[in-house]
Amino acid sequence: MAMSPKLTEAFNKQIAAEFAAAYKYLAMAAYFDGLDLTGFANWMTVQHEEELEHAHKFFDFVLDRGADVHLAAIPEPMQDFESPEHAFATALDNERAVTKLIHDLYALARDENDLACIPLLQWFVDEQHEEEASVSRILQRVRMAGDNPAALLVLDRELGERAPDSEG
Ligand code: MG
Repeated sequence: MAMSPKLTEAFNKQIAAEFAAAYKYLAMAAYFDGLDLTGFANWMTVQHEEELEHAHKFFDFVLDRGADVHLAAIPEPMQDFESPEHAFATALDNERAVTKLIHDLYALARDENDLACIPLLQWFVDEQHEEEASVSRILQRVRMAGDNPAALLVLDRELGERAPDSEG
């Protein structure tokens, strides 16, 4: 079954949203590197790579369905943050926005009875649940560290251990 034009457009928008998310995390990696918080920077870099994988998952799916890929512009990400807390609060807002997009995409696929999309979109629903939980947990711990550099450095060391394809 061919994907409808409306669903194809929505999938293409999601490809751009995932690249935009990747770009936002890359900006955060640069921000943390600038603070010499290299563990935080590592975590953001791994997150950036995960978002690229998400973009490619959608890209591959659109092509596999025989639909047309259209790559949209990626907006310039926020690059100036007031604090590590601000960066993670921004990341959480971004993840929540992406979750909404995924849920809307799922609802559209269901409305159009395009059941071939459902397993992929369910994977993303679960993934977003994990992303929000993981970003939210780190945000809380950054808040706990507050202005205590020693506490921040403990967290930095832990985040520095995150390897690609592992849960953060
Ligand atoms: Mg994503």
